[in-house]
Amino acid sequence: MTTTERSVFDQSLKQSTPEGFEQALLVIHDQLNSGLFPDDVIQNKPLLIFVESYGQSREHPYHKKKLVYQFASQRHFAIECADAGYPVLYLTGDEHYNDRIGQLLREYPDLSITWMQPLEWDTRKRLEAVNADYPDRTRVLANPFFMAKPEEWTDKIRDGYRMEFFYREMRKTTGYLMDEGRPAGGEWNYDKSNREKLPEGHNVPEIAACEPDDITQEVIGWVADSFAGHFGETDGFNLAVTRSEALQLADSFFKERLNEFGPYEDAMARGKPTLFHSVLSVYMNNGLLLPGELCDRAEAAYIEGQAPLNSVEGYIRQIIGWREYIRLYYEAMMPDVRSANAFGFSNKLPRFFWDADTKMNCVSEAVGQVIRNGYSHHIQRLMILSNIGNLTETDPHAIFEWFLYAYVDASEWVVLPNVLGMSTFADGGVLASKPYVSGGNYINKMGDYCKDCSYSISKKEGEGACPFNYLYWNFVDKQRDAFKENGRVSFMVNTWEKFDPAKKEAISKSSDQFINELPRYQ
Ligand SMILES: Cc1cc2nc3c(=O)[nH]c(=O)nc-3n(C[C@H](O)[C@H](O)[C@H](O)COP(=O)(O)OP(=O)(O)OC[C@H]3O[C@@H](n4cnc5c(N)ncnc54)[C@H](O)[C@@H]3O)c2cc1C
Ligand code: SF4
Repeated sequence: MTTTERSVFDQSLKQSTPEGFEQALLVIHDQLNSGLFPDDVIQNKPLLIFVESYGQSREHPYHKKKLVYQFASQRHFAIECADAGYPVLYLTGDEHYNDRIGQLLREYPDLSITWMQPLEWDTRKRLEAVNADYPDRTRVLANPFFMAKPEEWTDKIRDGYRMEFFYREMRKTTGYLMDEGRPAGGEWNYDKSNREKLPEGHNVPEIAACEPDDITQEVIGWVADSFAGHFGETDGFNLAVTRSEALQLADSFFKERLNEFGPYEDAMARGKPTLFHSVLSVYMNNGLLLPGELCDRAEAAYIEGQAPLNSVEGYIRQIIGWREYIRLYYEAMMPDVRSANAFGFSNKLPRFFWDADTKMNCVSEAVGQVIRNGYSHHIQRLMILSNIGNLTETDPHAIFEWFLYAYVDASEWVVLPNVLGMSTFADGGVLASKPYVSGGNYINKMGDYCKDCSYSISKKEGEGACPFNYLYWNFVDKQRDAFKENGRVSFMVNTWEKFDPAKKEAISKSSDQFINELPRYQ
């Protein structure tokens, strides 16, 4: 990168050199919140070291908006820190964190460097090696961006402790929606009220957008040129890149959408990619927003009568339940889970994941949204995209990699448990109690894609039938052992057994044809 390509940023950031400093804090790209800096850092304002590292970004086809978001938010945060009186060293290049930190420790023998433990496994391991080389000059602190402590949970989770029970414990510890030791309203979970389809013509508020400033515009131009072959588009980049912008977006979620978040949490609608979802995961995942402050806001909305309990409980459960649990699962299961593949699927990724080119309307809508925005909501990720990946017997690692590269909010700690644990059942049932696969009826029940689809939702097999319909039964048949052993879904095998032989054969023929003829990414 030449200096002119980042001239706006360079003019905006007053940089320091490490000369003369004895203490420094390495700020990892997903730890952008000075409120969580260690106390001595806040008091003494040592040198802050940022590393904008491109090696990994070039090696894999990360979504262009993801790259813009990562670099722009890190640059803005560095400027804010400098404005707040911190000396800042901002390094760029292809080298990884450990190379740059190792170099600095060699070149500046008086310098000691602190960092908060990175979430990503490989970054953590690389930095641990630096820590082992310089034990007296490096300090590794716990990662403060989550509420639950890994040491209290990882053993239990490895043994299959389910999210729902973890969530109840978290409710008790945090006190959210608790009423004298009992869950507010009498129930822990209001999911039953959260499964409505969006009525036709129902108003969905426009999601607030942030106008990119000159620093972000510069990053957009650079990413569009330098990462031109990557997935997705930079056009229309409108994410927040500072904490104050992210807080404004959170504000609009709590005022305009939380109210109906619950009922339509699982709904899917054409042309309405965000519905009543918060679209705040990106900001929590790099520290611009903190999970606790969002739960505080949600609880306050309930107490003040601005949002119903099923919406507020559903939202808080996603954060102190699912999000925390997913992180603990990553801590508990790494690194062995990386190779998990319970069904032994080895097919390459269907090509439509990259270009949305398929006659399956639900799939092409969902992938199209991801190409444009690097976002789709949870049910699209789970019940359309992972579902079709699993039903077409795709290698779960290929699905994992696609989610990792394609979404702006993706990082290994969150994608890996969601894909290998939740959506593909690759871990054999440590995280999920059943494989998340379904036929087209679920998609039709929760969404409005089927009426414009080239396939017929009511046709179960043969020419023109919805592929989800026959692929689902094919899956039940082939994975009968996994289904049979599982009390929640064993009845599906019994249903399959009752189909007449001609129907079974037609399902199997349609499935083999679809799976074998599907264009796949080489
Ligand atoms: C296959 C698959 C891949 C996923 N990949 C990611 C990912 O890369 N990054 C990511 O943050 N989430 C991921 N999720 C979880 C979830 O889909 C997203 O967090 C959510 O869709 C983000 O949109 P939102 O902020 O509008 O969420 P909302 O619907 O508004 O939910 C509120 C918050 O709850 C948290 N949350 C809810 N479910 C989960 C979950 N299962 N895991 C972690 N956090 C959760 C998120 O922080 C989210 O912002 C994935 C889920 C699946 C099934
Ligand atoms: S008919 Fe099947 S493939 Fe088409 S939109 Fe409905 S569920 Fe998707």
